Amino acid sequence: MRYDLLILGRGIAGAVLAESARQRGLSVHLFDRKQPGSATLAAGGAVNPVVLRRGSLCWGAEFLMPSARSFFTAWDRRTGLSCWHDDVLVQLFADAKQADQWKQAMARPGMAAFLARRPEPEIDHGPFRAPYGHGTVTDAGWLDLPRLLDAQREELLREEAITECVVAEDEVQAGLHGASVAGIQGRWLVRCTGPFSDHPGLVPVKGESLTVRIPGLKLSRIVHGGTGLLAVGNDLFRVGSTFKWTDVWEGPTAQARDWMLDRLSEMLDAPVEVVEHHAGVRPAARDRKPILGKTGPSTAVMNGLGARGVMQAPWCAKHLLDHLLDGKPLDPAVDAARYA
Ligand SMILES: Cc1cc2nc3c(=O)[nH]c(=O)nc-3n(C[C@H](O)[C@H](O)[C@H](O)COP(=O)(O)OP(=O)(O)OC[C@H]3O[C@@H](n4cnc5c(N)ncnc54)[C@H](O)[C@@H]3O)c2cc1C
Repeated sequence: MRYDLLILGRGIAGAVLAESARQRGLSVHLFDRKQPGSATLAAGGAVNPVVLRRGSLCWGAEFLMPSARSFFTAWDRRTGLSCWHDDVLVQLFADAKQADQWKQAMARPGMAAFLARRPEPEIDHGPFRAPYGHGTVTDAGWLDLPRLLDAQREELLREEAITECVVAEDEVQAGLHGASVAGIQGRWLVRCTGPFSDHPGLVPVKGESLTVRIPGLKLSRIVHGGTGLLAVGNDLFRVGSTFKWTDVWEGPTAQARDWMLDRLSEMLDAPVEVVEHHAGVRPAARDRKPILGKTGPSTAVMNGLGARGVMQAPWCAKHLLDHLLDGKPLDPAVDAARYA
């Protein structure tokens, strides 16, 4: 059998590309083996279209956000799962200056649909410390990544559509009309190998996060102060994350753990128990935009999802498939050719 698409890597990039291809009726085979440093394994799954420190929209927010929402809700409908959650994000202001900057940001053209100042009962009457007040990002979301990816894995294993192994470069062959990986043939091979890739333009950025238990804390919002706090159910919360540009593969560190717990205790007066400590490497591009496109007559890349993989992946997968299958031009902002 010859597949329409072979996908190397099943973090959020490969997973979303596979589901996107399936929605078009394409046949897909994936190759993946979880490895320490995988970005998706460390991600909380928060979706936030606003650059909080600047009070402006991040690149592409106006098309990335609706694309993510409609893609993940369609995926939920197909599987009967409930992994996508519309949400809001509450920013706790660090000082009066930040509160004032938020007010100014709300007045900028196009920002009224995303930013508000309004009462947030869980914050105002909960154990949070917000002496300078808070602002709300009204259009955010949360994707339960472990649940979605586990369900996809079960489905792929049932359909014999995934090979769980580390693929060595000498197992890959690519020619004019097709590619093969470990003897499995496809028309296109798309590399979605995230930080494990040495594609030009990629800058690896380490991040650490925690899963903590905070008994009895009622929270339906994502909260951001010195660090982020996201409820994932059963009194469990994701905390983080950190950013580091050196020693990116060193794994979890006590220093990052203590930093996150210190920031959390500044935001919140409640007992916190650490349940898990995660470390991953974000595949960021130098210009912080995705890296998409052909790398040969039968090979392509989908990478550079950086710190916003959940929001960017659905639009990127569609854009890349439109390009590979229908010959539509790539947006130059994301074209891998910019780093050639
Ligand atoms: C601490 C932390 C918190 C984050 N929080 C968020 C968040 O809340 N929201 C958000 O949107 N983003 C978040 N991110 C960013 C997000 O994790 C990334 O944008 C995204 O996961 C990148 O996905 P990817 O598929 O490109 O890479 P990865 O997730 O790293 O996936 C690459 C996959 O390819 C596999 N692979 C590579 N080479 C091979 C090979 N030769 N053979 C077989 N398999 C191979 C790897 O094992 C891996 O499974 C966070 C990142 C970190 C580090």
